[in-house]
Amino acid sequence: MEGLILLLIGVIALPLLLLASHHDGGKGTSSAAARPRQRRRRCPNCGSPVIDHGAYWECGWCGDYGQN
Ligand SMILES: [Zn+2]
Repeated sequence: MEGLILLLIGVIALPLLLLASHHDGGKGTSSAAARPRQRRRRCPNCGSPVIDHGAYWECGWCGDYGQN
């Protein structure tokens, strides 16, 4: 009888544990994807941050520019 109870606890606890770990993993990836990395463009020529004009970007350092 004790074995059956332990089995039942395992059957109930295992999916909960898997759900919890899966939920944490999803949270981690979503926060990593939400990083504001695409907002700040860098000049491909000199590597300094560029000025975003909306339709195009311009580098204030070397004068390079391009379309967004
Ligand atoms: Zn530049």
